[in-house]
Amino acid sequence: MKVRIRKPLADGRHLKKGVITVENEGRVYYRLPCEACGKPLKLRNAPVEGDNSLCKECQNIADIGKPETILVRKRGSYDYETPCDQCGKLERTSFLPKRSREFLCNDCLRESRQEQTAPVKQSGENPATEATSTSEKTHAPGEVNASLEMETPSREALQPMHRVKCSKCRKYMQLRFKPRSPGTFMCPKCYEKRQEERRSEKPETKILYNIECDKCGKSETLNFIPSYPDRALCSSCFAKIKRR
Ligand SMILES: [Zn+2]
Ligand SMILES: [Zn+2]
Ligand SMILES: [Zn+2]
Ligand SMILES: [Zn+2]
Repeated sequence: MKVRIRKPLADGRHLKKGVITVENEGRVYYRLPCEACGKPLKLRNAPVEGDNSLCKECQNIADIGKPETILVRKRGSYDYETPCDQCGKLERTSFLPKRSREFLCNDCLRESRQEQTAPVKQSGENPATEATSTSEKTHAPGEVNASLEMETPSREALQPMHRVKCSKCRKYMQLRFKPRSPGTFMCPKCYEKRQEERRSEKPETKILYNIECDKCGKSETLNFIPSYPDRALCSSCFAKIKRR
């Protein structure tokens, strides 16, 4: 078995830095760690510079998971770790929370279930209206703008508007739904800011890695150590490459 490092390919392109080429009885394969979780990968096709080499699970996160989700490997199996969309607490799950859906930790989930099953009082709203506002409740505040923009005047116009004060910047907002806890409601801007802070406040055991994007030079904090820190990409350059 021969092992070589960084041999130029026949077409002149270069293997990704750190890739190990293994020749075994005339068959060639390439070894390198998953960029996100570090799991050793064995590839048939030569990974070249600019490729994003992810294991199956991390690729799945990149495709349909939330950007904050990380893969936690443990002896032959794995879990996902994702911050709760409401309280920011990290929650471990065996399933991958979808990017398109709100993810709540067990505590917040229990709370919201209790609220949804609580009897509807005095309000005088008809059941149809109530159902719509319940489903809208599951939007993270950050998604509020989107739902306001997409309004279809007919039915939506009939719904009562709720005037809510942002608990952070004190700005008033008109919402089509009643927030779960008006006292702690945040406008999309403040909510986004708080999420950012939460992300950087993670306990010490969390990996935070500052990189300078190899493409555009922007600095960014990753929640994992990239396999090739000096060639790491920021999330937008990473996304661009993925789209190709
Ligand atoms: Zn991985
Ligand atoms: Zn929570
Ligand atoms: Zn605000
Ligand atoms: Zn970049």
